[in-house]
Amino acid sequence: MRPRDAYAEPYRIKVIEPIRMTTKEERLQKIEEAGYNVFSLRSEDVYVDLLTDSGTPAMSDAQWAALMRGDEAYAGSKSFYRFQDVVRKITGYEYVIPTHQGRGAEHVIMTTLVKKGDVVLGNMHFDTTLGHILLRGAEPVNLLRQEGYAVESNEPFKGNIDLEALDRELGAHGPEKVPFVLMTVTCNSNGGQPVSMANIKAASEIAHKHGVPLFFDCARFAENCWFIKNREPGYEKRSLLEIAQEMFSYGDGCIMSAKKDALVNMGGFTAMRDHEVYSKAIEWVIPFEGYVTYGGLAGRDLEAMAAGLSEVLDDDYLEDRIGQVAYLADLLLERGVPVITPAGGHGVYVDARAVLPHIPQSQFPAQALTVELYVEGGVRGVELGACAFARTDEATGETIYPELELVRLAIPRRVYTDRHMLCVARAFEGILERRSSIRGLRITYEAPVLRHFTAKFERV
Ligand SMILES: *Cc1c(COP(=O)(O)O)cnc(C)c1O
Repeated sequence: MRPRDAYAEPYRIKVIEPIRMTTKEERLQKIEEAGYNVFSLRSEDVYVDLLTDSGTPAMSDAQWAALMRGDEAYAGSKSFYRFQDVVRKITGYEYVIPTHQGRGAEHVIMTTLVKKGDVVLGNMHFDTTLGHILLRGAEPVNLLRQEGYAVESNEPFKGNIDLEALDRELGAHGPEKVPFVLMTVTCNSNGGQPVSMANIKAASEIAHKHGVPLFFDCARFAENCWFIKNREPGYEKRSLLEIAQEMFSYGDGCIMSAKKDALVNMGGFTAMRDHEVYSKAIEWVIPFEGYVTYGGLAGRDLEAMAAGLSEVLDDDYLEDRIGQVAYLADLLLERGVPVITPAGGHGVYVDARAVLPHIPQSQFPAQALTVELYVEGGVRGVELGACAFARTDEATGETIYPELELVRLAIPRRVYTDRHMLCVARAFEGILERRSSIRGLRITYEAPVLRHFTAKFERV
């Protein structure tokens, strides 16, 4: 990767959206009103919004222009065929079904292929994927290599699956119990870490040897391809499109949240080689998503996705995008803020316990840091720690805490400049100066499931 100051953004700005800087006093009041939970803030009160990279990209002039071409016919719209052509070109998969977003594609594929008692193997399933597997009464199994869990590392491909474990699990359960192997590229749940082509190829060979198909959860396939090109020997000279085509050639189908690498604000799809799977899948698409040529989307959405997929496999764009994530990670490391290394493709993950060592895990250090980041700089990140992941042991009633207390700073695509990243780094400087006086939090309200979205807190 070239140094950040060796180049500039590979685009210029045609439309802007004003954002408002608030005062610290205002932010203290807003966060108190929000029950110390950033999900309850209004976006107009946030200066740099790093809550998620999902559905938050800025579309290009080509995408906005494509919206006008949307054919809103109920069946057989021109927009569907243009979209299908782009997906076929990248993936090589014959059958393409649009869905309203990634979880719509998960729903279709899980109901089609997964039955009660099945085991779904993968490198590491994303939350909604995990939820859909559980809803089918099946068991999700993560087979990420041990290296993928390390906080500090030089591993180039921390998203790789453990091939020996995959072979062993497939041997133990067989094709009757394993409907498919799911490779998530990049691996969202451990920080957007990439999977190497060698690992994908070997996983595909192992799955196929056992008579089990391989699917991709390919929300960030373009970012994964960029990492392969820049980190895996033998791929430096290949085009990103060729790398994507080779990657998908090892699989039998995919599910995608288009809100990531299709550079749109809403959409998704599933695609596959097998006609029988397709025929069964559309039985679930029509009642839940809509007719097969629109799948819960407007014709113009299909046009924006087609345009986004056509422009995302671009070296300059991806170097700038992934470079910006690495830049923010470096700014924080230089200031003594520990983050997961190497930085992944879509966000920086801060080790909250290292920043606030005096706050015990029972007082939510990552949530406290998320709150302070908003108070200090108007920056919205998200807690991935005890609030999101702690659970109660049913036998003993004891709380089981997650290993890590992280604050994720997910960077929207083509939205913020490097000066915004400097603002984020400055907010951390302010926090470090007064860190010993920062207090923990206690929960005053929580929902029985997925409490982190709606929990309310007070300061200890
Ligand atoms: C976002 C995401 C999903 C779910 O997609 P939605 O569009 O949010 O429904 C599934 N898998 C991965 C890897 C994701 O990042």
